Amino acid sequence: MSVAPSPWPKRLLAPDETGPSQLETAVTAMLRRAQFARWYGAVNRLRGRQRAVIVMYHSFTPGGWGAIPPSTLRWHLELLRELCDVVPLTRLAVALANREPTDRMVSLTVDDGYEDFFTVAYPILSELRLPATLFVPTGFIGGQSEWYRRPRALLRIASASLLRELDPGLVSVGSHSVHHRPLARLPVAALEHEARRSKSDLESLLGVPVTLFAYPFGGRGAYDDAATAVLRAAGFQAAVTTRWDTYSAARELLRLPRVWFAATDDPGDVQAKLAGDFDWLNERELVAHLLRSTFTHVRNSAPVRAIKRTRSSLARR
Ligand SMILES: [Zn+2]
Repeated sequence: MSVAPSPWPKRLLAPDETGPSQLETAVTAMLRRAQFARWYGAVNRLRGRQRAVIVMYHSFTPGGWGAIPPSTLRWHLELLRELCDVVPLTRLAVALANREPTDRMVSLTVDDGYEDFFTVAYPILSELRLPATLFVPTGFIGGQSEWYRRPRALLRIASASLLRELDPGLVSVGSHSVHHRPLARLPVAALEHEARRSKSDLESLLGVPVTLFAYPFGGRGAYDDAATAVLRAAGFQAAVTTRWDTYSAARELLRLPRVWFAATDDPGDVQAKLAGDFDWLNERELVAHLLRSTFTHVRNSAPVRAIKRTRSSLARR
């Protein structure tokens, strides 16, 4: 397997497309010496969790979110085919539900349904016969990625006829909601619409059941228990987040974690991410999320609001 260096100059890459920061690499190296992945895995298995490696991609066009150049995608996929058993996400979900061995399994997911999936990823996936899931926000089919703030490039989303051309034996289409907005704290009626409408629209478009979902934005703050309950009631089998982890469990089928690669990752980085050496990022995200929600909670609490009111009334005098 030959590994070509990325043909894209680094300055073209947005911050979220650069590889792990120096600090992350240093922490990971330290944890690797401490055999972090082994004891993290042991703890997860004690908690009834098992390996569940789901790789997330977005775009393959410069300026797109998390963009991966075509030549990089090719060596990623060749490496995955060599090292792992690449299975459809539905297969991994069934294995998790039945507690079958999942150690070698990897599932591929691509969010947003950009046209570049068809021009870049689909030909390589077809050539290598690797299954993948494409998550499409149905309100934007044939439109553009308007949910991103400028200056990020607007990318075209695949049209209905392009989506119909996909080989259903190779690519499953999943829902990425209707409007691509965070689902947390949405009223139930809006949640129902995002889940059920996107599912039924895709099903009538493609003529196959749609059982997979990807939460828009996908971080811990982008979904909640109500959203998960609505997905379950709507008949989704599995849903993916952007929480980082290589372990999951049957009870987490509707909020599965994922991992992703940066355009600047080398094969060593990719293998380390697959092996779980970066799984400590999950705990870091959890701590950040708890701090954020505590801060929001305190800021909105009655005593703090009373202090603010007093301050502003004093200022007006
Ligand atoms: Zn998205």
